[in-house]
Amino acid sequence: MSGNQPRMLAITEINNREPVAVEMPESLSKIWATDVFNLATMEEALSKNAFKAMKNTVQTGAALDPGTADVVAAAMKDWAIAKGVKFFSHIFYPMTNATAEKHDGFIITNSDGGAITEFTGSLLIKGEPDGSSFPNGSLRMTNAARGYTAWDPTSPAYIMHTDNGATLMIPSVFMSWTGEALDKKIPLLRSNAALDKAAKKVLSLMGEKEIATLSSSCGAEQEYFLVDANFASSRPDLLLAGRSLFGAPPAKGQEFDDHYFGAIPERVQVFMQDLEDRLYRLGIPAKTHHNEVAPGQFEIAPYFESANVASDHQQLLMTLLKITAKKHGFLCLLHEKPFAGVNGSGKHVNWSVGNATQGNLLDPGSTPNDNLIFLLFCGAVIRGVHVFGPLLRAAIASAANDHRLGANEAPPAILSVYLGDQLEKLFMDIKAGKLNETAKGGMMDLGLTQILTFERDPGDRNRTSPFAFTGNRFEFRAVGSSQSVSGPLVAMNTMLADSLEWIALRLESSLAATASQTEAVILVLQELMQAHGGVVFGGNGYSPEWHRMAVEERGLKNLPTTADALPAFLDPAVVELFKKTGVLTPVELASRYEVYAEQYILSIEVEVKLTVEMAKTLIYPAAMGYIADLAATISAAGEVGVKLDAAVAGKVATEVNAMMLAVAELSAIIGKHDFDSTEEHMKFCANTVRPLMDEVRLHADRLETEVADELWPLPKYRELLFFR
Ligand code: ADP
Ligand code: MG
Repeated sequence: MSGNQPRMLAITEINNREPVAVEMPESLSKIWATDVFNLATMEEALSKNAFKAMKNTVQTGAALDPGTADVVAAAMKDWAIAKGVKFFSHIFYPMTNATAEKHDGFIITNSDGGAITEFTGSLLIKGEPDGSSFPNGSLRMTNAARGYTAWDPTSPAYIMHTDNGATLMIPSVFMSWTGEALDKKIPLLRSNAALDKAAKKVLSLMGEKEIATLSSSCGAEQEYFLVDANFASSRPDLLLAGRSLFGAPPAKGQEFDDHYFGAIPERVQVFMQDLEDRLYRLGIPAKTHHNEVAPGQFEIAPYFESANVASDHQQLLMTLLKITAKKHGFLCLLHEKPFAGVNGSGKHVNWSVGNATQGNLLDPGSTPNDNLIFLLFCGAVIRGVHVFGPLLRAAIASAANDHRLGANEAPPAILSVYLGDQLEKLFMDIKAGKLNETAKGGMMDLGLTQILTFERDPGDRNRTSPFAFTGNRFEFRAVGSSQSVSGPLVAMNTMLADSLEWIALRLESSLAATASQTEAVILVLQELMQAHGGVVFGGNGYSPEWHRMAVEERGLKNLPTTADALPAFLDPAVVELFKKTGVLTPVELASRYEVYAEQYILSIEVEVKLTVEMAKTLIYPAAMGYIADLAATISAAGEVGVKLDAAVAGKVATEVNAMMLAVAELSAIIGKHDFDSTEEHMKFCANTVRPLMDEVRLHADRLETEVADELWPLPKYRELLFFR
C-alpha cells in the first residue's frame, strides 16, 4: 500500500464498525467484588480467630503471625481454585509507572508422579522474581540480584481473567535482599505510618483520647484519549511513544466546547460499560464517567478509598483501560499530551487524611474543637506545600507531563495552594492577628459562625490551581495521567507528617503558655501563616502576572521541565525529610532520582529516534513525491505552451530542506553521552534536544498542509480526533 491508502482503508473500516457486542451488564449487587478476596469473603472462609487477626492487620497495618498466614493462604487457594484459577502471581509496583508480575502454578508433583495443588503461607508471603531487570538505581548490583516480593495483606488479592485463564493476583511489596524498597508501595505504606505518628501527637495535644490508626485516602480522576485502532496502526509515534510527534492542527479543534459533557458516542459508551463491569467485579468503585474537553477525550473517576488500595486500584484501572479499549477497537492513550494544541490529560489526585474515631480531618466539623483541629491540619498542608513545593513538583515530573504543565489547560509548574475565598480570608485574618480578639475583646469562637458556612465545593471555581481545597479534601491537579499516584501520595503524606510534627512542637509550648486552647492554636497558626502564607493564592494561576509574582514576590519556584524539577530529590532538606520520617533512606531516595532521571532521558531518546525515522521514511518521501508530481505536471504543461506557477513546489522544497537539516542535526546529537552528570544530561535533553524536535515538527506540520492529501501517509488530527 502506498500514499494515503492505509488511511482511506482505515476510514472505510471505521465507518462500518459496529459497537462490540458485550453481555448485558448484570446488576451491581450480583457482580460487585466477586473476584476479590476481601474481608467479606474472608469472614466466610476463615475461622473466627484468623479473621479477627486479618481484620486487625487490614485496619491497623499490624503484622500477621505466620500461623494465620498459612490459614489465609489455604483459604485463598481454595477460593481461587473454586473459581477456576490455576496460577498465582505476586503483583508489584516497580519504580516505573507500570506493574510487574511473575506467574506460578499452584501445582507441585509428588514422588509417584502425581500432581497436587499447594499454596502455603510462606508461598503467599514471599515470592522471588529474579529482579535484576527492574530499575533499581544502583540499589541492587546484578551479581546480587535477588529481589523479594512480599504479600501486602492490607490490599486485597483478586482474580484477573484473561483469554488464557484466570490468575490469582497478590498485591505485594518489592525489596532488595538487603531490605531496601525497590518499589512504589513500600514508601507509601511508610508515609502512612509517619503521618499516623505525627497526627496522633497533634490530636492528643488537642485533648482527643481515643485515636484510631490514621491513614490517607485517595480518589483519582483519570483522563484518557481513545483513538481508533485502525488509525493508530499507521502511527508509529502513537504506538511507541504514546503521543503524536507530528500533526498539523485540524480546521476544527476543541474550540466549540461541544465535547465536554456532550453525548458519549455509542462505541465509547459500550466500551465504558464493559470496563465498568470488569472494574466492579474487581471491587473498584468506578463512579463517574464523562467526555472531557478535547474531542476523543474522556474521564473516569472511582470513588475514593484508602491510599494504598486506591493506588493499587489505579494501576489496575490503567491496565484495564488499555486491555478493554483494545477489545473495542480503540487504542487508549494515557499520555499527558497526545496531541499538540489540544488539551492534555491529567489525573486529579483527591487526598484527605482521617481515621475511624476522628473522621476526615480535612472536613470542617460541627464543634469548635473539631474546627480547630481542621484548621491545624489545613495549616499543616499549607506549610507542607510551601516548604516542599519543589518536592511535589519533582513527584509529578516526567517527559510527558512537561508538555502539559504550564500550557493553557493545565496547572502551572509553580506549586501554590488554593483555599477558596472564605477559608483564605480566615487564614489571612489569622496571619494578620485579626482573629485574636473579637469586637468585645474576648477570643473569637471558632465555632459555627466562621467555619460551618463554608460552601461545600469552593475549589471547583478555580481550575487554574495545582493544589486546591475542595470542601473536605485537597486536590492535586498537576499529576500526570499516566503516572502512578503513589509518588504524589508519598510526597503529600510525608510533607504533612513533617508539618504536623512542626505544629505539635509549637502547640505543646503554646498550650502550656496560655489557658485558652483556641488562643494557643491561633498563635501557632499565626506563626505558620506568617512564615508560609505566601504559598496561598486564589487568583488566576495561568496568568503571566502570577508567574512573575510567584517567583519575584513570593519566592516560589517555577520548575518548567523535569530537568529543573528532579534535582529536588537531592536537596539536603528533602533528604532529611525522608530520613527523619522513616519513609526513604538517603540511598533509597537517591536511587529514585537516578531511576526517574534515566526514564526521562530514555523517553526523550525514543522520541528522537522516532522523529528522525518518521521524518525520513514517511514524511520526506511523501513530500518528494509531491514535488515530483508537481514538477512533471508543470513541465508537461509547459510543453503544450501552458505556463504554471511553480511557487507551491518551491515552498514544499523549502520546508523539506529545512526539515531535513533539523533531522540531520538531531541525528548527530542522538549519540551524545559524554555528560559530567545526570543533571547535565537531562538539561541537554530539555534545552537542546527538545527544541530541535520541535523544529523538525514545525516543518513537517507545514508540509502536511501543502502536500496532496492522497500522498500523505499519516492519519491526520481530524481523523484521529473525530472518527469513532
Ligand atoms: P471533580 O471533577 O469536580 O473534581 P469528581 O466527582 O469527578 O469531582 O471527583 C472527585 C473525586 O474525589 C472522586 O474520586 C471522589 O471519590 C473523591 N473524593 C471525595 N471525597 C474525598 C475525600 N474525603 N478524600 C479523598 N477523595 C475524595
Ligand atoms: Mg477534579
